[in-house]
Amino acid sequence: MAVRRSKKKCLVIGGCGFLGRHLVEELLERDYTVNVFDMRSTFEDEMVTFFIGDLCKTEDLLPAMENVDIVFHCASPAPSSDNYQLFYRVNYEGTKSVISACKEAGVQRLVLTSSASVVFEGVDIQNGSEDLPYASHPIDYYTETKILQEKEVLKSNCEDLHTIAVRPHGIFGPRDPQLVPTVVDMARKGKSKYIIGDGRNLVDFTYVKNVVHGHILAGESLDEGSVTCGKAYHITNDDPIYF
Ligand code: NAD
Repeated sequence: MAVRRSKKKCLVIGGCGFLGRHLVEELLERDYTVNVFDMRSTFEDEMVTFFIGDLCKTEDLLPAMENVDIVFHCASPAPSSDNYQLFYRVNYEGTKSVISACKEAGVQRLVLTSSASVVFEGVDIQNGSEDLPYASHPIDYYTETKILQEKEVLKSNCEDLHTIAVRPHGIFGPRDPQLVPTVVDMARKGKSKYIIGDGRNLVDFTYVKNVVHGHILAGESLDEGSVTCGKAYHITNDDPIYF
């Protein structure tokens, strides 16, 4: 028999994106009430209340946070962009707006989608743990501002607002707009005939539903005094969960 949980209210910032929409669908499955905040609209669902706006504006965010128990922040400009100003504004300053809106609205739990790239600076990592320091030379602007963003979220953890960061790497799954389509496109153009390193490099891709499951566990873990408060967690496919 399916377990029904008490009806908690969530806000998914970036809920119209690849990961965000999967998160929305799973939260609805688990009987959460769901608000979505995004700058664009990509789908309709009568069970979801949509708010269109810019996350850099606290005044845009506040209506979407009314009576919300958990905020999931999984919005970011696409990593492929080379626009430092955009990354800095959305990932860093925008995240500060999210934090202050959470505080003003009385939200008690904030889950950030960070990235495993925050500890990567071009040198191979095997069996890396959360003890690794942040990259001192981040590989791109995206990563540089994901570090700033994560630090801001974790340091804002306090008695009234419990925060956590989830760090996936290379998400794949249904409706993936980027990872697999890019690989297929390159293969079709004959651009896959080169080797990086000695050809035995490993990359830790993560199935989208595992990432979603990790986010929901993270949000549910943030009770008063929980060891997870103010911490970051890598998420991988080591122990996959099949839905
Ligand atoms: P996505 O581009 O599919 O979704 C991001 C969403 O954020 C979009 O719907 C976009 O409209 C929204 N957004 C961007 N700027 C906004 C703003 N100023 N105001 C409101 N909404 C805004 O990206 P995704 O692949 O679903 O990634 C989600 C999160 O996961 C991001 O934080 C990303 O850094 C992180 N992440 C993704 C991957 C991956 O492989 N896809 C890997 C590691 C981490």
